[in-house]
Formats: sequence, structure tokens, C-alpha cells
Amino acid sequence: MELFYFFILDNKYFVCYSNLGDVMSIYIHIPFCTSICTYCDFCKIIYNEKYISNYLDMLEKEIRERYKGEKVKTIFIGGGTPTSLSLDELKRLFDIIKIFNVEDIIEYTIESNVESIDEDKLILMKEYGINRISIGVESFDNNTLKVLGRSHNKEDIFNKIELVKKYFDNINIDLIYAAYNDINILKRDIDYFLKLDIPHISTYSLIIEDNTMLKINGTKNINEDLDYEMYKYIEKTLEDNNYKHYEISNYAKEGYESKHNLVYWNNDYYYGFGLSSTSYIDNIRSVNTKNLTKYLNGNYKGTEEKEDINTRMENEIMLGFRKLDGINIGKFRDRYGKDVEDVFDIDDLVRDNYLIKEDNYLRINKEYMYISNEIISRIFN
Ligand code: SF4
Repeated sequence: MELFYFFILDNKYFVCYSNLGDVMSIYIHIPFCTSICTYCDFCKIIYNEKYISNYLDMLEKEIRERYKGEKVKTIFIGGGTPTSLSLDELKRLFDIIKIFNVEDIIEYTIESNVESIDEDKLILMKEYGINRISIGVESFDNNTLKVLGRSHNKEDIFNKIELVKKYFDNINIDLIYAAYNDINILKRDIDYFLKLDIPHISTYSLIIEDNTMLKINGTKNINEDLDYEMYKYIEKTLEDNNYKHYEISNYAKEGYESKHNLVYWNNDYYYGFGLSSTSYIDNIRSVNTKNLTKYLNGNYKGTEEKEDINTRMENEIMLGFRKLDGINIGKFRDRYGKDVEDVFDIDDLVRDNYLIKEDNYLRINKEYMYISNEIISRIFN
């Protein structure tokens, strides 16, 4: 339920939209992985059976202490690799998640990788109401998979996705590009994806992060012109095949946009539970501890920051402009009591066609989406 309230500022009445209502989204972090990918800088730990039961106990403790009984509209179990858990461990996790009030839930996603999916786990997920599965495919090219440190191959992907399709139609795959100086590998990857006929894909240009094996091995990013060519190739080919480019990295068939991720991009409130997870509630952004020992001792608290109105408005722009639709001008006014144009100096960007104002939305011109970071920093400067 959305709440509305009124206030007066500069002799004007404002009706304010708030997402302080009683519908929330939930992220749950399972940090365990069976092996560590060469590019990964997420909060993850090699799967070790001896930690899992303790971790799940502490996850339950955290949820019981923090969750206030709100109705839940989306759940996303991410990681790490949630499906690295055994069948019994997954069952325990899903039983914990029953704490939430899910009578109005619209999307319940679990992340997985190719090698840890099996039929028993899929049946269990279905039984517990999971209705969306996101699979870390990353590439169909066996050499690229090796470079990325993934242990599956192309044949595994086709076999597992065929199996997943017996139980789920709402499927996402993650794809990494720009791991190689060869656009033909990307072209083949996109062809294979299209053959699979699944409704959602997240595409990420490989970034060589500090403290990753790729960085340590001296791997360099590909040049930016080729990266741009790859980005445009993906966009054109997927759009030609009826996928909507709805967020800078995400494409979906109609109706299959990720409802959970839209909560982040719309700057709405959500709970995050588990090691290192972020929550955004009542204008407070909090991040749980990243220290597993502390978490296993029941001390989940990390940092928290109350955001002032300026930070919230900037976040609204930064997150909202990831979406091709951009931000809703009326909603911005209702939330902050100000017009976006009165807060940010955007006239030149609108005049020069970098930003487009249309039908109550303000968005980055699709032609310039690739340089969205530069446009956003111009807005803030
Ligand atoms: S499976 Fe995901 S979280 Fe685990 S190491 Fe690989 S990229 Fe990182």
C-alpha cells in the first residue's frame, strides 16, 4: 500500500507519495560458492558444510529481530550461490523465508549457477513458491568460461536450461561480455541465448576489479570502442528479437522485467538480510557486517547512514536514470516536494538532447545511455 501525506512549503500545498507503506521487498544473501570466479569481488566464501547451519540460524535470528511483518511483494535470494546449498539446507532456508507475509507476493527469485542446479532442487523451489530463477551462465564459449573461472561448459548450459524449463518459465541468464577482444564470441553467445528462448537477460561488460584473480594476473579491459560496439550489438540484436531494453544492462520480453530489481532502480524501500546485505528503510541505508565470524556470532550490524533530502534526490536520479524510462517527474515532486528542474540544472542537457522530457518522464536519450555516468555527473556538477 502506498501512503500519501500533505505538507505546505513556500505557501504551496504538496501531496507527498511515500513508500513508507506496508509492502516491502526482501533481499537475502547466501554468501557460499562452490568455487571462486576469477572476476568476482562480491562478498562470498567457499561452501563449507560446517558453516551453513550456523549461518541459517543467524539469518533466522536477524529476520525475526528486524522484520516488522509488512506484506512482501518481491523476494530475491542472491549470493554467492544460493543453490550451492544442499537440498536439506535449501529446505531449511525456504522454511525460514516462510516468516514473511507473502500473501500478495508477485515475484520470488533465486540465483543459481549451472552446475548446482538439479531436478530435486527445482522441485523443492517450485513447492515453496519460487517463480523466477536467475542463472549465472556468463558465456557459451568454453574458453571464455575457463578464463572467468566457471566450471560449466556449453553443453551443461543447454542441458540444465532444458531441465529448468520443465519447472519455470520466468528465467534470467547473466551474460558477461568484453572478456575478449573478439566480437564474434559475443555474436555467438547472443545467438545461443536466442535459441534458448528465455524471457530475460542481464548483460555485463567485464570490469577488472581490484583483488580479483584477473587483476592479479594482469588482465586488461578491452578498448572502449570495442566495448561500445558490443553494447550496441547486444541492444540491436535483442531489440530485433522483441526484447525490451528497460535498464542499462537488462532486457526482457514483455511482462518479464525484474520486479525486484525495479525496486532498487525506483529508489523504493527494501530489507536486506544476511552477510553484507544492504537495506533501505525510512531513508536509512544500512549495510550488514561483511565479517562472517561476526555474523555467525549473531552480530549482523554494520554501518548505517540516514540520508538527507539532497542525497535521496541524487540517488533518485542515479538509480532512476539506469532505466530507459527514466524518472517519473510527478513522483519526484510528490516525494521531495520539489520539481526536478528546480533542484538540478538540466536545461542545457535537455536542449542538447542528452535528456528527454516526455509524458511526465525525464530520461537519458537512448543514444547516450552508454555514457550515462558522464551525463549524471554533469547533472550533479
Ligand atoms: S558464483 Fe558469483 S558470487 Fe560466486 S564466485 Fe562466482 S561470481 Fe562470485
